[in-house]
Amino acid sequence: MQYAKIDGLRSTAQPKLKAICEHCNSAVHAKCGSKVVWHWAHVSVENCDSWYEPETQWHRDWKNNFGQDRSEISIVKDGVRHIADVLTKDDLVIEFQNSNISAETIMARELFYDKMIWVINGIHFKENFTIWDKEFAENWQLKTEIKQNLNLLNSQPNARVLTVQGNQIKQEAIRQILNRFKFVHNKQYDIYTYDLKDLFNSHALEARIQANILELYKAQKVEQKFKSVIYTWTRARKSWEDAKKPVFIDFNEDYLIWIKTNIGGKSGEGTKVLKKDFLDKYNITR
Ligand SMILES: [Zn+2]
Repeated sequence: MQYAKIDGLRSTAQPKLKAICEHCNSAVHAKCGSKVVWHWAHVSVENCDSWYEPETQWHRDWKNNFGQDRSEISIVKDGVRHIADVLTKDDLVIEFQNSNISAETIMARELFYDKMIWVINGIHFKENFTIWDKEFAENWQLKTEIKQNLNLLNSQPNARVLTVQGNQIKQEAIRQILNRFKFVHNKQYDIYTYDLKDLFNSHALEARIQANILELYKAQKVEQKFKSVIYTWTRARKSWEDAKKPVFIDFNEDYLIWIKTNIGGKSGEGTKVLKKDFLDKYNITR
């Protein structure tokens, strides 16, 4: 815990201090080691909240955004007490989840708090999580495939075929890039081909083309407040599959990804929400 009471005042942990847990009134003492975030720990009982997870700097930074009056708030329901990480001015609970948790715990918390949202720390699986702007993914991708049985490719049995998708303007832009890479355009089928035999590394080539297209897209795109994205998540954390409350993932960028479909699955859609806008929406002090 970040806060405990000393002489009735909410205080933060400092070396050697003792205090009283404001949730259960038992004694707590300051834990101020060099490897832990300074916090209060119960002296005799384990922790008065069975859902407690060891606090990280990540939790601390988020809670500090909301200030001490909104952080670590006791919520009692049917004689059971849990400590919400943040309770907003609109009585919305925000739970900041750093470690992986079970589907049962997710469900139990959603039932208990009812009006709540999740922010999970995505830094642990950032390399498994890929995000594309939906607009880019749908209209700016090159489709590549090997079409071995196409008659026109008899002269090039190992040809790989590139198809340009998207509207006219995008098509034109992508064509210019392909021309730069000296692809052969087959007008009859409106496809581009290249022979795999001529290329020692076709994947690297495609990656270079795609990078060129991405650059072009970035130069032309209009910044939107809430941008739709699609994601793929390898080794997805399946326990989130049945989460009913909104889930935002924090990848330590200036935005959060609000998962809109298929949380806990391999791919789905989401929305990029700037952290600044997130805090403006939920924070009374800003
Ligand atoms: Zn306590």
